[in-house]
Amino acid sequence: MPETNFQRITVLGATGSIGMSTLDVIARHPDRFQAFALTAQVQVERMFELCVRFAPRYAVMVNLAAASELREKLRAHGGVTEVLAGADALSMVATHDEVDAVMAAIVGAAGLVPTLAAARAGKRILLANKEALVLSGALFMEAVAASGAQLLPIDSEHNAVFQALPGSYVRNPDERGIRRILLTASGGPFRERSLESLEGVTPDQACAHPNWVMGRKISVDSATMMNKGLEVIEAHWLFGVPAERIDVVVHPQSVIHSMVEYADGSVLAQLGNPDMRTPIAHALAYPERIDAGVKSLDLFEIARLSFERPDFQRFPCLALAYQALREGGAAAAVLNAANEEAVAAFLEGRLGFRRIADVISASLERAVGLPVDSIESIIDTDARARDIARSEILVRQTRQ
Ligand code: NAD
Ligand code: MG
Repeated sequence: MPETNFQRITVLGATGSIGMSTLDVIARHPDRFQAFALTAQVQVERMFELCVRFAPRYAVMVNLAAASELREKLRAHGGVTEVLAGADALSMVATHDEVDAVMAAIVGAAGLVPTLAAARAGKRILLANKEALVLSGALFMEAVAASGAQLLPIDSEHNAVFQALPGSYVRNPDERGIRRILLTASGGPFRERSLESLEGVTPDQACAHPNWVMGRKISVDSATMMNKGLEVIEAHWLFGVPAERIDVVVHPQSVIHSMVEYADGSVLAQLGNPDMRTPIAHALAYPERIDAGVKSLDLFEIARLSFERPDFQRFPCLALAYQALREGGAAAAVLNAANEEAVAAFLEGRLGFRRIADVISASLERAVGLPVDSIESIIDTDARARDIARSEILVRQTRQ
């Protein structure tokens, strides 16, 4: 292995579902990858285990008490890892001179600042944190272009599209004969339930995804199909394709991870088992290919692939995301902020499942004309949209 292929990696959100899958792939290739810094919000036990196993230079805990606790535990255990505390340390480890690649796997808008910092520092960015891109769209893509950062999508759909695009693709679909992007969607756990029966669903039911095991926020997003809505917006920014040329195809088996249709009628797809280690390994090693620990796809066992149109009535969040993308400006940022607040309220039992879309729709109507032209204004717009969403949640709150 030539020395140049060796990468020191910062994993933002190391204790989460994507973070742990990333570390699983890193552990399979100690000759290629080294965990330089790991970050988490509060999970001390898991972070302690990761520090013992991967001996990173830095471990960041956003929560100050959690940082002290981790520091104590590591001191007693002995080791090389320095523990840093607070959100500012996230940007430090995302931009550190010795870092080659940053896995952006924090969930939600909380990941924006360090991910954007990595983009400005010209790092290779492995982007799982779709909310950061939805929130900062144009600004983020400009930062990537200005610094020469390399942006590699981890979201399985976008990673599939990336793999189906020409090697030198630079966000100009017409120049490269691209007609449409087809994003596949599993349809989540409620694909076949009646609208009325969705009224009383619990957080655990919403998080029981048929094909993927993920964090709770994205699991709820999959159940409302807001996840696909965010992905439509993500695809727009990553690949430069307008909303009307991004279609959602419900494909319950989650074997085709997405497709690109070309002017000559060719449709290129990427297939694989639903295991996030495939896109993670693809992006980590890009443009090479490495073992991800994923078993071979057994087409005979799958036997059948099926496709359906998305039901915008049953999944109003998907329609709201298209609407926000067409509207432009701050609409996508407001959509994201309202969704994060509504999903948190649902997970805490304060808001009914079907009210999530109502809160987002009402917030979009109220929060208009907010600025999104600088990181400061985006953070401010995010905060104002959350205030509006919280007031919309209050009037719909379930009695406890
Ligand atoms: P998760 O909830 O399992 O993990 C989230 C991670 O972020 C944890 O390490 C947590 O400590 C950290 N975190 C949470 N809040 C934070 C805060 N305020 N500040 C700093 N760190 C914080 O989430 P996940 O399922 O791994 O998803 C991570 C991201 O990847 C999300 O944006 C999600 O949409 C995206 N994604 C996930 C999957 C998947 O299969 N899980 C697939 C595609 C995209
Ligand atoms: Mg996805």
